[in-house]
Amino acid sequence: MPKIYNFSAGPAVLPESVLQTAQQEMLDYNGTGFPVMTLSHRSDIFLSILHHAEQDLRQLLNIPNNYKILFMQGGGSTQFELVAMNFANGFKRIDSVISGNWSRIAHEQMMKVTDCTIHTAAHGGEQFNYTDLPQPENWDISPDSAFVHYVSNETVHGLQYNLVPKLSADSPPMICDMSSDILSRPINVADFGVIYAGAQKNVGPSGATIVIIREDLLERCSDKLPNVWNYQRYIANNGMYNTPATYPIYMAGLVFRWLQTQGGVAKIEQFNNLKAQTLYDTIDQSGGFYRNNIAPRARSKMNVIFNTGSEELDKKFIFEADLRGLKSLKGYKTLGGMRASIYNAMPLEGVQALAEFMQEFQRKHG
Ligand code: PLP
Repeated sequence: MPKIYNFSAGPAVLPESVLQTAQQEMLDYNGTGFPVMTLSHRSDIFLSILHHAEQDLRQLLNIPNNYKILFMQGGGSTQFELVAMNFANGFKRIDSVISGNWSRIAHEQMMKVTDCTIHTAAHGGEQFNYTDLPQPENWDISPDSAFVHYVSNETVHGLQYNLVPKLSADSPPMICDMSSDILSRPINVADFGVIYAGAQKNVGPSGATIVIIREDLLERCSDKLPNVWNYQRYIANNGMYNTPATYPIYMAGLVFRWLQTQGGVAKIEQFNNLKAQTLYDTIDQSGGFYRNNIAPRARSKMNVIFNTGSEELDKKFIFEADLRGLKSLKGYKTLGGMRASIYNAMPLEGVQALAEFMQEFQRKHG
């Protein structure tokens, strides 16, 4: 049986040491005699798990004190609507950058929950057919908008903003969906009004959603919103308006600790750069056998998409790779081809094994 490497876009690979700890603690957390899954969310033991997860996340991303951290439920998809419902109150316009599948969905869903105009600040599909990203200096944004929304890494199209957009001083707050690249590199949290991310790529199993909110924005949350959709209510209840996803939060906490032992996000970024470079080099040096038509400045370091130009050969690639232990390489359903998701927890050896397989497959079928 070959060693298994899981290239799934999410839920995705988790560090082996994290899984081992979770296994050891499955029936008895830290000598308490309790499985974490059965702990009351109000118990001191769970409150301590939550507190440490928050503190470790704050340390890893250097989150300033005027930002609140929530672990909510509902995934990235729920945040698409919640940011509009909470932060557009009293405004007439939201600026939305469409750069790929997820920001397009966010745009459409925001339209359903607010009377604000959802203004297309830029459209990477119309401009580049999603092979490049609309650059921030060309985003059409208004100082009077409630916020500008964008997605830092488009998981489906394999596109990533390699720098945090620098907007002019009078720009509205930036709200960013970082579901598929949070904690993969250092960021300056103070550049953002809100950051949100589903856990199931770089943070842990699915079920918990990180939301980092600049405090002053909470004033916009209206009491008319049902409590369960109101960020202010969560903050007022120490992050727990209702029962949170306790086990995913515990797992996220273990991943944060693991990241600290790896040297933090600056160090993990170096690994991520090396892993992405290994795959893009393999594609670029294949003489056209493998194709990735994303502009170099916009190539994602988390999701590397490629194809051979032949659907039949792509299928063969995915089948043969699977037999070799290289799992979940099938591209997104609407795009086809292959997608290698190489989040923080994917070891360099996994990427090297894939690169070697790609070369071997080319020798055989090229
Ligand atoms: N945003 C991005 C960038 C994603 O990649 C995904 C899922 O893959 C989502 C949002 C939706 O996440 P969820 O399934 O947690 O709602």
